[in-house]
Amino acid sequence: LGYLLKPFTDIGLLSQVHLLHQLGQTHKQLKNRNAELEASNRELEQFAYVVSHDLKSPLRTITGYCKLLAKHCAEQFDAKAGDLMHIVLGGTDRMQQLIDDLLTYSRVGRMGQAVEAVDLSETLSRVVDNLDAAIEESGTTIDIGEMPMVRGIPLQLDQLFQNLIDNAIKFQGEDPPRIHVSAQRIEDTWQVTVADNGIGIEAKYFDEIFGVFQRLHTREEYAGTGIGLALCQKIVNHQGGRLWVESEPGKGSKFHVELLAGESEADPAQQM
Ligand code: ADP
Repeated sequence: LGYLLKPFTDIGLLSQVHLLHQLGQTHKQLKNRNAELEASNRELEQFAYVVSHDLKSPLRTITGYCKLLAKHCAEQFDAKAGDLMHIVLGGTDRMQQLIDDLLTYSRVGRMGQAVEAVDLSETLSRVVDNLDAAIEESGTTIDIGEMPMVRGIPLQLDQLFQNLIDNAIKFQGEDPPRIHVSAQRIEDTWQVTVADNGIGIEAKYFDEIFGVFQRLHTREEYAGTGIGLALCQKIVNHQGGRLWVESEPGKGSKFHVELLAGESEADPAQQM
């Protein structure tokens, strides 16, 4: 505060007291505003959770009866009716996927999992195993550098890197995907980078792509619901880190994840 007030040493004591009072008021207002924002955020998350959870049951009924209809009335259906039923079932499948994604998204932070020291080399080898079929099918080369210990929630870190690597495969350019995962120590954090040689992203979309259900392509071009990066962002923020992208169309993308270094085994596990 002394530093802040230095330029004002010329002004009288009364003005300084007034200034201090004003600063105090602003601080109080900011604190209140923050508490309000946190409360409305919690409410929104609760809303998303309840809605996605409750929508599952009527959707199951619709899908179930449509399938029964298709099965039992197949002989009465002409080609047109068959096509229409196919469209309806495509729509319910997609809605199921959206609801599942929304539920996964709203679960981050609700489960009270403990933050612990996580060996990222184990995380990445699990992720590569899970994506084995997609890697094989697309002819992806994946190169993983030396990975550090970080502080985080193991299952969420799996989800995070699985989404990033899955995207690096999916948004491939003309050549088969080449993915490089590397880590760099910066003070008490690790910056882990997932770099690909895919289609790249225009700078004007760097913020937008992290929004819920935000996509830059149609489903016909690339499959997906647009929740992957929003989920990644939420996971990273929840663990006290940052996630951002560096990219140029046609020149591949680099997704940087900043996570707290995890050697401090002495730290008690925190609930998050
Ligand atoms: P989805 O993969 O379901 O479309 P995401 O939230 O994971 O949703 O990604 C949002 C959008 O960001 C994608 O639709 C795509 O346009 C862009 N994107 C994400 N990852 C990459 C990548 N590695 N290369 C190019 N574009 C990407």
